[in-house]
Amino acid sequence: MSSDTIVGIDLGTTNSLVAYMQGDSPVVIPGEDGLNLVPSVVALDENNQVIVGNAARRYLIETPERAVYSVKRLMGRGVEDIQDELKLFPFQLAADLHPGEVLRIKLGERTYTPPEISALVLRQLKRNAERFFGAPVTQAVITVPAYFNDAQRQATKDAGRIAGLNVLRLVNEPTAASLAYGLDKKTNGIVAVYDLGGGTFDISILKLHDGIFEVIATNGDTHLGGDDIDNLLIAIALDDIRGDLGLDLRKDARRNGEAVARIRKAVIEAKIALSSQPTAKLEVDLPGGKKYQREIPLEMFEQMVQPIIDRTVGPCKQALKDAGLKPEQIDEVVLVGGSTRIPKVRRLVRDLFKRVPHTDLNPDEVVALGAAVQANILGGGSDITKEMLLLDVTPLSLGIEVAGGVTDKVILRNSTVPASATQYYTTQVDGQANVAIHVLQGERELARDCRSLARFDLKGVPPMPAGMPRIEVKFLIDANGILRVSAREQRSGKEAQIDVQPSYGLTDEQVENMLLESFDFAEEDFRQRQIIEARREADTILTALAKGKKSPAWQDLTDEERRNVATLEKSLVAAKDGEDYHAIRGSIDALNEATMRLAELMMDTAVSTALKGKAMDDTDLEEGPRAGHPVAKAEFE
Ligand code: ADP
Ligand code: MG
Repeated sequence: MSSDTIVGIDLGTTNSLVAYMQGDSPVVIPGEDGLNLVPSVVALDENNQVIVGNAARRYLIETPERAVYSVKRLMGRGVEDIQDELKLFPFQLAADLHPGEVLRIKLGERTYTPPEISALVLRQLKRNAERFFGAPVTQAVITVPAYFNDAQRQATKDAGRIAGLNVLRLVNEPTAASLAYGLDKKTNGIVAVYDLGGGTFDISILKLHDGIFEVIATNGDTHLGGDDIDNLLIAIALDDIRGDLGLDLRKDARRNGEAVARIRKAVIEAKIALSSQPTAKLEVDLPGGKKYQREIPLEMFEQMVQPIIDRTVGPCKQALKDAGLKPEQIDEVVLVGGSTRIPKVRRLVRDLFKRVPHTDLNPDEVVALGAAVQANILGGGSDITKEMLLLDVTPLSLGIEVAGGVTDKVILRNSTVPASATQYYTTQVDGQANVAIHVLQGERELARDCRSLARFDLKGVPPMPAGMPRIEVKFLIDANGILRVSAREQRSGKEAQIDVQPSYGLTDEQVENMLLESFDFAEEDFRQRQIIEARREADTILTALAKGKKSPAWQDLTDEERRNVATLEKSLVAAKDGEDYHAIRGSIDALNEATMRLAELMMDTAVSTALKGKAMDDTDLEEGPRAGHPVAKAEFE
């Protein structure tokens, strides 16, 4: 097996997996223990060695201060937006955290950002794949929930980079699940993907037309899943034990922690047994030589879990409503997540969507399998998959803040990506030289209720009366769902050259530093690897450019733009074979910047062809400046 196999990775809240394409079918790669699922748990042992997966799980009980789990919930999020989350976690955070900073979690002697923790899980999957192939694995497709925002996607990519993986594409989990079932082979239809995992519930509705997947609606509950069932069963057991045996294990958590952990293990086993048996037995040894025993018949279990699984109904109905569909209009239903093995859940889904769901593939593997299919497509693929194009959707609206602290949406939620849209704005006061652009994500009317993604200033606008400047703000979301925003005052040609740095994302420098200090990498030569990765990236962009030059879009560029691109292309070709990483990096960035408009023009054509000429967003059409609709927070010079 060659080392250029691109693997597909499901980086889950509870469990993670790696898969690859074996011939025409995707296959999960097992770990050293022979198990496919790698629990997303990271721990430090007595010698400060990192332990990941099943082996790390026992530390959650024995030395909880040396173990971290469910870190996916914290990816790309700031200290202030995870207060609710933190209440539920035993994690210790770094003491010196300031608002707006990347979160750091205490683990043993040092602190780690969420991407670094996720990178350790990814490293484990990478190693499993390398052992399996007997060759290095450096490229991957990683899945993310459809609702992940820009910062969360960036954080996932950062995790990949820190783990030494070149993340070729982020794919939405429901899209991956549909791919695993080969639903692209149908010509048309609507697919509902119902994903009930360990701690999260997601419902996604995808539209399939001529082999193209388009996510048309997403909804869910970030705190609903198998864990809730486990906790309910534990609570019942603890009540029983107190009532029948006179033992209150809720008191003195430190001393009784181990007994509660044994109860947890027993109830999970019982829950899993009840997915295939009519009854299950709970048996747990307790402190003081006591023993807890109880029989749970399936019928009783189903009654107990009913309120939990019923909580998935609301989000499903909302998603249908957002998609403008009736249950009868759903053609296929795909089950994802370990908790959909519960027969009662399957019946609920069947009744809800009036359709028997697909259950042939293991629901906890299906996302990784689909990621492997996507990886194969990107790698040139087999004949079967070569023609497939994936479209995903933005889960939340994107916009900017305008006068009065109001959010003005530029790209609406549930828009298909890749997407681009343009809006025009003007100034609020006479002679305004600087315009503050505040990029927001969310549905709320007021900017302060939305999530702040980035801020930048368009500076040096020549003095003009208020309302005169014509400011074009362009949003561009690439196929990974990552956003780029640009602003240009058209009368003066003033442009803001910005890099959208999502709040709570890591800067390139930070990621670089993590790469360098990552203890796990001591034996590797970072510079060399960076140079290799940069060269690969250079090749990708040069190949894309060669294609671009042959496209009609090339002729749409100005002479000057074409000259500029040609010059930068030459310098990249020259830098690429040298040993100076910063020179290659700088040339790539410059060429990327210079070819942005070419890429946009090409993408506009590609997307409109894909959608059969349907204008994807009417905001792309020319529109005059909006009177009285100025950009807010103007600054005087
Ligand atoms: P995630 O997507 O959150 O990483 P998974 O899809 O791996 O999670 O689902 C994990 C959950 O599925 C856990 O709560 C686990 O107990 C549950 N689960 C796994 N197998 C079964 C089964 N046979 N019956 C019921 N629940 C199951
Ligand atoms: Mg999952």
